Amino acid sequence: MDFKPAPPTRLRLRLTATAESIVRSGHPWVFSDSVQEANRPGQAGELAVIFDRKDKFLAVGLFDPDSPIRVRILHVGKPQTIDGAWWQAHLAQALARRAGLFDATTTGYRLLHGESDGWPGLVLDRYDSTLVLKLYTAAWLPRLAEMRTLIQTHIPCERILLRLSRNIQAFAEKGFHHHDGQILHGAPPEGAVIFSENGVRFEADVLRGQKTGFFLDQRENRQAVEALSRGRRVLNAFSFSGGFSVYAARGGAKSVTDLDISAHALESAKRNFALNTKSPAIAACRHETVQADAFKWIEADPAKFELIVLDPPSLAKRATEREGAIRAYERLNALGIQKLAREGILVAGSCSAHVSALEFFEAVRRAALKSGRKFAELKTLLHPPDHPAGFKEAEYLKVIYLKFSI
Ligand code: SAH
Repeated sequence: MDFKPAPPTRLRLRLTATAESIVRSGHPWVFSDSVQEANRPGQAGELAVIFDRKDKFLAVGLFDPDSPIRVRILHVGKPQTIDGAWWQAHLAQALARRAGLFDATTTGYRLLHGESDGWPGLVLDRYDSTLVLKLYTAAWLPRLAEMRTLIQTHIPCERILLRLSRNIQAFAEKGFHHHDGQILHGAPPEGAVIFSENGVRFEADVLRGQKTGFFLDQRENRQAVEALSRGRRVLNAFSFSGGFSVYAARGGAKSVTDLDISAHALESAKRNFALNTKSPAIAACRHETVQADAFKWIEADPAKFELIVLDPPSLAKRATEREGAIRAYERLNALGIQKLAREGILVAGSCSAHVSALEFFEAVRRAALKSGRKFAELKTLLHPPDHPAGFKEAEYLKVIYLKFSI
């Protein structure tokens, strides 16, 4: 006789009252200690259906038994079947949100931005004809083949590359034979991938670079810096591959200095300038690189600059580091202000989700007030539309622009 295993019953969960109302209000995370009842143990990536107090469907999400975020919500509201057609419509919705945002001069941007786009723990970036799929949770691993087919079918591309956050790499290798940098579709890229952003050409190290190879989230700030750079000597601290610098050069900066601790990043910045020498302004701009610890160099070096970009890596990796990070932001920006020439402009950024926009802006304003110099606030910028932030924990990016008059 041929026995087939019975199909597993759907994983059904009940939550604490507080978690239930948080989910109902649209928050995408259910923490392990909020799960009150489960009909059986669940596996990574399976769908978990959440029922409310009245036994009515509340939400459905991706289960992850190994993560403190036990369920990542895909849908909340009326009952829906998550099948191929649902995924297709879900992808179409995210793509529609980007319709009209970019013209042909911009071929690098984010297509799927995690939770805030309805794709919790998943990011998809376009770099010209290369797509980079980055996973931050193991819950996607059992669905990877399905997602690859979905993406390949609906988004024209030459290749799809897989990137995995460090915390899931071992599990992905052992359980699924997937590795960071794996080619999911097409041929491997020959070297760095070149894309364009507002007509500026950049390389992205899609196989090994931070995030998916480039900081696409700073596009609007790069444009703002371009518009402020004419005739100025510009310092780009924590420059990475010189994104702000190439824009500053195109905007007519007299000189641009890239400052980063990583030689690898500075080599990439040089190549990014070389990619754009067709632009007379970029070709004419003096470009220097300095490999040093930015905190130490800014304090020790005597030169002054007329525009300074300070965009450090996250200074608070976890919530407990929040207060120390706020102090570090104030200190860093105080150092930056000391290095500003008369009538200089400070462009101060933070990408720490644990420090709120207000806390960060206040820290920079404090540094400016304590300097005793007169200044005006030009503007602040938050998330660009291809990196939406739909809930508090997703808000990480903030930049403030101050112009000093003495
Ligand atoms: N502003 C960049 C992104 C910054 S990422 C952009 O828009 O593309 C952070 C960068 O800071 C990385 O390149 C890293 O190498 C560099 N970095 C980290 N710690 C540093 C330090 N103490 N001094 C100088 N650079 C540092």
